[in-house]
Amino acid sequence: MALIVQKFGGTSVANIERIRHVASLVKREVDAGNQVAVVVSAMAGATNQLVAWVNELSDLTADAALKEYDVVVSSGEQVTSGLLALALQELGIPARSWQGWQIPLRTDGAHGKARIEQIETDRLKATLKREVAIVPGFQGIGPGDLITTLGRGGSDTSAVALAAALGADRCDIYTDVDGVYTSDPRVVPKARKLKKVAYEEMLEMASLGAKVLHTRSVQMAMSHNVRVQVLSSFEDVEGSMLVEEKEVVERRLVTGITYSNDEARITLVAVPNTPGVAASIFGPLADAEVNVDMIIQNISEDGKTTDMTFTASKTDAARAVKVLEGLKAALKYRDLVMDTKVSKVSVIGVGMRTHAGIAQQMFKTLADKGINILAITTSEIKISVLIESEYVELAMRAMHTAYDLDAVEEKIAPAAPRSKKAS
Ligand code: ADP
Ligand code: ASP
Ligand code: MG
Repeated sequence: MALIVQKFGGTSVANIERIRHVASLVKREVDAGNQVAVVVSAMAGATNQLVAWVNELSDLTADAALKEYDVVVSSGEQVTSGLLALALQELGIPARSWQGWQIPLRTDGAHGKARIEQIETDRLKATLKREVAIVPGFQGIGPGDLITTLGRGGSDTSAVALAAALGADRCDIYTDVDGVYTSDPRVVPKARKLKKVAYEEMLEMASLGAKVLHTRSVQMAMSHNVRVQVLSSFEDVEGSMLVEEKEVVERRLVTGITYSNDEARITLVAVPNTPGVAASIFGPLADAEVNVDMIIQNISEDGKTTDMTFTASKTDAARAVKVLEGLKAALKYRDLVMDTKVSKVSVIGVGMRTHAGIAQQMFKTLADKGINILAITTSEIKISVLIESEYVELAMRAMHTAYDLDAVEEKIAPAAPRSKKAS
């Protein structure tokens, strides 16, 4: 007998029919003699709707407002946890839902992007012997017993954290694609399924935009050695497994290509070119918790001024502009320009540690398509470029082919409809 955590994302629980189907997938594990804890997302579209209502009433700059944001947006998962428990009961399987505060699943107090600190498993574990536990993803309880949420897409993290805390044999993440692909199969039709993905590559892919897994869920799986499998709740086929690097037999220089549209480029035009200028710009940005990604400095011909360009996520960028406008007199720049029609495209692969020429291949492919590179960053196993958003799909497909990743046969549209996204 094994202990399994199953997680179902928004499209997998999008309506009562889908919830009934999920109940049958849970039943299958129970019938096989396993103990099962299930983590559910909100119904597809539900969290977006909740966020939209909150946004109509608040710009969420006040702490008190962020606390209420969590109260509202965590509610979608409460609904699906109760519904799935009902669907299981209907099938004759004993089941009950556990809200984050009932477990309790403790987090820090960073409302809207809280981190899990501790999961009390004694009571929950005892009940698994006689009934299925349904846990709402995404939500926890923070300091002062206030409800918190883990950030968009956070149900994956709830599931992996629960699997780690319970010492589960496996954590199965059911979604609307049947595994982790070399690239988003909705953007690159020739993307191929990866049967095994190294944790480190998955971590880079997730943090660079492949939203099939929440970044923190991969970190957690890595640090707690959780066996994570990504598979479809729509098609009964083999999924993808996260594994140690040495277990990946099919080795390519590049494993995946990702994109992120959540980027903004900010330029301070004509800042006096004096020692300490970077510190005086990026210090206050760090204090305001702006996560700066790429940085480019262009010194003017006469050397007296410099343009300082950097990128950040769209949400952070709005805060960055506020901070920098407040410092205009001190920084003495001429102008501040923000561009949000930019995207980051990245290639990822552990093969980069040992092979040269991968960046060059990327630059050449983009040049051949006439796509201009606005900024570049690299790390040990990835290269990212910033380009204009309108060229993202073209760039991704061209690079997919250039790195020899194309599937022999085109993947026919994945099972779930393309319209939804984000629960
Ligand atoms: P869920 O609601 O089940 O959590 P998400 O929408 O968060 O599902 O994540 C699944 C989606 O991730 C897929 O529909 C797919 O479009 C997208 N995706 C992006 N990159 C990849 C990739 N490399 N492999 C598989 N899916 C990817
Ligand atoms: N429902 C939340 C969201 O849409 C969490 C999740 O689905 O992972 O972001
Ligand atoms: Mg998700």
